[in-house]
Amino acid sequence: MTRNIEIDLISDTSTKPSAEMLAAMVKAEVGDEQRYEDPTVLALGERVADLLGMEAALFLPSGTMCNQIAYLVHCRPGDEIIAAANAHVFGSEGAGASALAGAQFRTIETPDGIFAASDVEAAIRAPRHRSPRSRVVSVEQTANRGGGSVWPTTALAEVAAAAHARGLAAHMDGARLPNAAIASGQSAAEHTRGMDSAWIDLSKGLGCPVGGVLAGSKDFIAEAWFWKHRLGGAMRQAGFLAAAGLYALDHNYERLAEDHDNARLFGEIARAAGIPVFPERIATNILFLDVAGYALDAGEIAARLAGHGVRLGVETPTRMRVVTHLDVSREQVQRAAGHLVRIVDDQTPLRVAR
Ligand SMILES: *Cc1c(COP(=O)(O)O)cnc(C)c1O
Repeated sequence: MTRNIEIDLISDTSTKPSAEMLAAMVKAEVGDEQRYEDPTVLALGERVADLLGMEAALFLPSGTMCNQIAYLVHCRPGDEIIAAANAHVFGSEGAGASALAGAQFRTIETPDGIFAASDVEAAIRAPRHRSPRSRVVSVEQTANRGGGSVWPTTALAEVAAAAHARGLAAHMDGARLPNAAIASGQSAAEHTRGMDSAWIDLSKGLGCPVGGVLAGSKDFIAEAWFWKHRLGGAMRQAGFLAAAGLYALDHNYERLAEDHDNARLFGEIARAAGIPVFPERIATNILFLDVAGYALDAGEIAARLAGHGVRLGVETPTRMRVVTHLDVSREQVQRAAGHLVRIVDDQTPLRVAR
């Protein structure tokens, strides 16, 4: 399906392992990870625990499993998780929190995915017999549907403190925490300070084929191991996959700044052509385009772009998503934005007022 797509901006998950990453994977020293005998998996766990300022960490097949296991550890059936209404955990994980942990969400409306300690205080239930028990506050760094926005570390610390003051745990979906760290110039550990659990995705901007790493206290990770087995996420010679993660942390972390520059470049070209872009200030590698003002809808624009070997995400008939990553160069980003502008310009006479 993507055979004729040369410039794939649908997601940073479309990255493929480079020859150098594959070489590092092939050379990995491996063992049975379920017996704690895979030295490469153990090394990745230690590396990510250090990176996130946590005691321990656990290699898992996906970021989704990182979120779900965190909720399974933190929650009992009937508990409530406070999260942004546009959070991945609420809308994009098959209702896993309710299906697996038996927890429900209480959502906060926030276009950029960021909320304040006061929002958390307002969302926490008073302890009454008839009320759900508020158990976890869940933040997403960066906020994907918030336009790749970066939570300031002060806001994260305040939200975690508000959670702890009322006996709730604080969890970070850090699928793109590395992007936040690079964009803010503050270490990942500064972002996770105050969090009881946090994880990073290896298969997004870091460019690995598979995996996420969930971190927390020793006790939290011991309990997470139980769920990793129960859910079938315990692997065997997983060191071949973990080696990709170690390679990515060495080679693909600092370079995320290039993806952010490229997203800004795409946004500037689109804006100069009159296409509304969200967010106002592009912070990381994600931006949205509002194509409501054009005769062609997002799907039709995407189809025309595909004819030029370019793929963007279609969120709704009026909204498209662009995600930059290490498999798309600055020149390709420029070319893709140019195609978009020409497609949109061609229909200027048809521009409809809404
Ligand atoms: C991609 C993503 C996830 C899930 O990660 P997978 O590795 O695809 O399972 C969770 N949260 C956010 C914000 C994401 O972007």
